[in-house]
Amino acid sequence: MTREELYLSILNHIQDGVYYVDIHRKIKFWNKGAEQITGYKAEEIVGRDCPSSKLNHIDEFGNHLCITGCPLFATNSDGIVRTEKVFVRHKDGYRIPILTTVYPIKENGTIIGSVEVFTRNSPKAYEDDLIENLTEKAMHDSLTHLPNRSYLESFLNYKLSEYQRFGKKFALLFADIDHFRVFNNTYGHDIGDLVLTDIAKSISHTIKKNDMFGRWGGEEFVGVFAINREYEAAIVAERIRHLVENTVITNTDGQELKVTISVGITTSRPQDTLEIMLKRADSLMYQSKQNGRNKVTTDISAEDI
Ligand code: GH3
Ligand code: MG
Ligand code: MG
Repeated sequence: MTREELYLSILNHIQDGVYYVDIHRKIKFWNKGAEQITGYKAEEIVGRDCPSSKLNHIDEFGNHLCITGCPLFATNSDGIVRTEKVFVRHKDGYRIPILTTVYPIKENGTIIGSVEVFTRNSPKAYEDDLIENLTEKAMHDSLTHLPNRSYLESFLNYKLSEYQRFGKKFALLFADIDHFRVFNNTYGHDIGDLVLTDIAKSISHTIKKNDMFGRWGGEEFVGVFAINREYEAAIVAERIRHLVENTVITNTDGQELKVTISVGITTSRPQDTLEIMLKRADSLMYQSKQNGRNKVTTDISAEDI
C-alpha cells in the first residue's frame, strides 16, 4: 500500500465529512463521510466548482454562503481557520445542520486550497421547513417572487469580488417602468401589480442560471449578467427592454395593456464598488428617461461594440 492509499483509506474511515477544494474552489476530494452525510457520491461532486455544486450552503440566518460569504473562499484568500454552523442541502432536498471547520492548505507558504471538515450538528435545533421558508422569504420579493434588493446586493458584491480576483466580467442593468404612476392612476393599483408580476415572469424565464434579475423596489429592477465581451451587455439590455414592451396583459373588458421600461446598462471596471456601479447604471437609466423613455443607454465605448 502506498502512502497515498494509506492516507485515503484513513480519511475514508472517519465519520466526518472531509473535502478539499483548490484555489478556484473546484472540489478535488470528497470522502465517504461526506457521501454519507449529504447523499452525494464522490463522482457526483468531484470536479465541480463549489458554487455550482448542489450543496448550496446557507447559514443560520438563511444567507446563501456561496454568494454572501463563503468560508472556503475566505480561507482560500486569507489562510485563516474558520468554524461555522451552516446547513447543506441533502441530495433528497432537505437541509442538514452541520458544524464545519475550514483549514488552508499551503505549498511552500502559498495557499493552494482549503480542506473542509464537517460533522452533523444537533438536528433538533432546526426545523428544515422553517429554515427553507425563511430563506425564501428573506431573499425574495413577495409580489413578484424575484430576488429582492438585499439578495441582489449580496450577489453583486459576490460578482465584484469574483471580477476583482479572477477577472470574470459582468454587466449591471438598471430598469425603471415608464410613467407607471399614470398607469396606476388610469387602470388601478391591482392592474399595476399584475403588470409587475407579468414582467417578472417573462424576464425570469430567460435569465441564465448564474445570472440574476430582481426587483430593486417599487417599479425598478436590477439585473446582473456574466459577459465575455462588452457588446453582449447591450444585447442583454435590448432583449429585456423588448420583452417588457411585448408583455401584454388583458383587462377585464378585453383591453390590451402594456408598459415600457427605460434601461441603463454598464460593465464591471477595476475600481468599481457596489455603490459606484449602481450609480453609473442608474444615471444611464436616467439618460434613457430624458431621451424619450423606452430606451437603452450604455456606456460601452464604440470600439468595444
Ligand atoms: P418615470 O417614467 O419618470 O419613471 O415615471 P413614473 O410615474 O414611473 O415614476 P414615479 O417615480 O413618479 O412613480 C413610480 C410609480 O410606481 C408610483 C407608484 O404608484 C408605482 N409603484 C411602485 N411600486 C408599486 C407596486 O408595488 N405596485 C403598483 N401597482 N405600483 C407601484
Ligand atoms: Mg422609479
Ligand atoms: Mg418609473
